[in-house]
This record gives sequence, C-alpha cells and structure tokens, in this order.
Amino acid sequence: MTLLDGLATSRQIKSEIAQSVESIVQSGGRPPHLAAVLVGDDGASLTYVTSKVKSCEEVGFRSTLIRKEASTSEAELLDLIAQLNANEELDGYIVQLPLPKHVDEKKVLLAIDPRKDVDGFHPENVGRMVLGLPCYLPATPGGIMELLRRYHVPTEGRHCVVIGRSHIVGLPMSILMQRNTSPGNCTVTITHSKTKGLDELCRQADIIVAALGRPEFLKGDMVKEGAVVIDVGITRVPDATKKSGFRLLGDVEFSSVSPKCSFITPVPGGVGPMTIVTLLQNTLQARLEK
Ligand code: NAD
Repeated sequence: MTLLDGLATSRQIKSEIAQSVESIVQSGGRPPHLAAVLVGDDGASLTYVTSKVKSCEEVGFRSTLIRKEASTSEAELLDLIAQLNANEELDGYIVQLPLPKHVDEKKVLLAIDPRKDVDGFHPENVGRMVLGLPCYLPATPGGIMELLRRYHVPTEGRHCVVIGRSHIVGLPMSILMQRNTSPGNCTVTITHSKTKGLDELCRQADIIVAALGRPEFLKGDMVKEGAVVIDVGITRVPDATKKSGFRLLGDVEFSSVSPKCSFITPVPGGVGPMTIVTLLQNTLQARLEK
C-alpha cells in the first residue's frame, strides 16, 4: 500500500510556485495577489481561509483577507464583488462558502469575473472544464488529479466510483476522471444519497473517491483488493483529548480499508493540502495570464 502523501506533495508544489514568483519579481513584476472573502464567523470556514492566506505568504503571494459580518446584505456583498472584479492589482479571489442563508450563493458566484474565479465555480469555468478547454479547475478535484499524476497512479480504463455529486467535489471529479487525459480515461459511476446498491458498486471499483461528508462511511468490506481510495471527507468530531476539542475524520475507515489498497490518501494530510495548493496554482496562472 502506498500512502498518497498530499502534505509532502503540496510542499514540493509550493516550492515550485515560490520559484515562479521569484522569477516574476526578479524581472520587475508584482507578485500574484489573492483575496479571500469570509462572511460570518463559522469556525471551520475561518480555519480554511486562514490556512489559504498563510499558504499565500509561504510562496511569496500578496494576500488580502476581507472579513464581513454575518448580517452583511446580499447587495453589499455584490458591491464588494464588483470592486474586486475592477481591482487591477488583484489576480484572483475566493468567496468562502457557505454564505449566510439570506444571501443567494448562486447570485454571488455568477457575479465573480470568471478570469478571477480561482475557485473554478463560475459556470463559465465549469463549462470550459466539461469541454476540456483551458480553465481554472475547482481546487479539490484539481488537487486530486495532481496527486494522481505525481504518484503515477494508473487510471486509464479503470472503473472509478465517485461517492457524492456536489458541485464543488463529486460532480467535477466525475467529469475530470472520464476525460481523455492522463490521469483520466476512467469509466465513471457517480453516486449519491439516492443510489441503490452502493456497497456492491464500490466493490466493483478500481478507484473510489469518497466525498459525502459522513465520517468513516467507507469500510473495508466495501473495497476490493488493490483499489485506489481517495478520501475527500473532513468532519470535525468532538474529542476531549485534543486541545482544539475536536479531531478530523475522513469518509473512509482507514484501519479496515488501507490494508486492501494499492494507494490511499490519509486524513488529514491527503486531499486537504492539495486543495490549497491548487488554489495557489490557479492564482499564479491568473497572474501569468495578465
Ligand atoms: P455536500 O454535502 O455538498 O455533498 C455530499 C454529497 O454526498 C451529496 O451529493 C449527497 O447526495 C452525497 N451523499 C450523502 N450521503 C450519501 C450516502 N449515504 N451515500 C451516497 N452518497 C451520499 O458535501 P461536499 O461539499 O461535496 O463535501 C463532502 C465532504 O468533503 C465533506 O466532509 C467536506 O468537508 C469535505 N471536503 C473536503 C475538502 C478538502 O479540501 N479536503 C474540500 C471540500 C469538501
């Protein structure tokens, strides 16, 4: 069994990005600049945004964290988006989801300039991804593809079962895995909460991408010998022994699944760091396309 070490791989990619930033700056250019908008004070969202900002600093990017109160109106937020779109000194930005209930998430995503949409959530980027055109890949699926590429995980002709069909993970993952690319060229089954016979489908899979957000859902008896398992899930479960008061669990029961795998991602240290690094790659791409 080979552990797909997202932490080590992300460090390697960060050093490559830092080198690119250095050569931009040495030739008189300004470093890439990423902004993150956080509305409200959800603990998990704050953790994600803070680590994205910290990663920017590590590679020499400029970063701006824009915090807004949970009561911020949709109109105010759309006004902020318009300002970010117009800001020539900003290459890309993200709006951390979820947004408060009184804000229409779709309206906000549609307002983002696709050229600055480094999260890859705008319909223009999603459409370009489906058609195999140059685009910003959504960070989590993009990071998983990079991990598969760097570990030379064989995917061509394999059966890939994706658990979950969210717009940010499951659905784009299924599209990327079936594309005529390497990695890719899989036969893909996309599954969701209404799927019947999921256990049997998983047992037929050469590659499983678990992205449903239910801790330790995938057990050893649902996985065939030699499978590749990608665990996207991150759930905070209370743990009094931890200083934070919680620990992170993936969607895969690592103890029973990993002995059967050819490759598997750990949680933490698998998909999470690769997600952040893809956001950095997208921002660098946005800077270079200016
Ligand atoms: P979501 O809630 O938007 O979607 C969950 C999907 O799982 C839905 O499509 C649903 O139909 C499906 N599902 C739910 N129960 C199911 C079941 N019993 N059988 C089959 N399918 C089922 O979640 P999301 O945003 O896609 O995130 C999924 C998980 O991945 C969460 O734990 C989230 O925290 C994590 N996540 C991690 C990263 C990362 O960087 N590692 C990034 C994004 C999300």
